[in-house]
Amino acid sequence: MKPIDKTERYTLTELIVRNLKTYMLDNEMKPGDKLPAERELCQTLGVSRAVLREALRSLESAGLLQIRHGEGSYVAAHFFDPLYEQLNFIQLMEPKRQSDMLGIRYLIEASACESASRVGVRAWDDLVELADRFEQSAGLDAASRSELDARFHLALVRTLGNRTLEEMTEAFLRLNARFDDTDEAHRAHAREHVLYLNAIREGNLELAKKLLEKHLTTNCSTPRP
Ligand SMILES: [Zn+2]
Repeated sequence: MKPIDKTERYTLTELIVRNLKTYMLDNEMKPGDKLPAERELCQTLGVSRAVLREALRSLESAGLLQIRHGEGSYVAAHFFDPLYEQLNFIQLMEPKRQSDMLGIRYLIEASACESASRVGVRAWDDLVELADRFEQSAGLDAASRSELDARFHLALVRTLGNRTLEEMTEAFLRLNARFDDTDEAHRAHAREHVLYLNAIREGNLELAKKLLEKHLTTNCSTPRP
């Protein structure tokens, strides 16, 4: 590695990154919007294609852009993907942190039990329907069952009315996904959803949170990269 030139505050790549971020904000770009073509960006910024691409890759690693080869660069649709990568790696490197990660997920979903107890009929019906769909998914492959489980838990978190927290929760759901290796384990998992929904409906939040805690710590596995 070469020593850093301390007289230069920013590298050319960092300057381009800052410039592109400002461009996206000034143009009120939204997730999914396409950036100008590389040739146009090179001309506007007065930089080579190699250094522009380095800046674009840096923005992609930060979760702000998605580069589609042969198509162009787009404002990312899932800003929190890097959060999952970071937390997953930390958790694998220091397995003791798994209980921290589960603890964060518990705090989020326990708050959601409280907000779910106050939601209207429509949101409640959505929760019950997603619990049913998960219960009926016993014959599907593991990925489909896991997705239906995530949809149920996200619907619960949605009752908090905080979109950012909901998006961050997606990372926590992937971090320690429940591992149902038999039909019996799947049925037990589905039954737990119903049990804590019942406890919420009956206003017994203490019981709902106890059931939730057990639910989150049963048969969890940490995915490897
Ligand atoms: Zn579940």
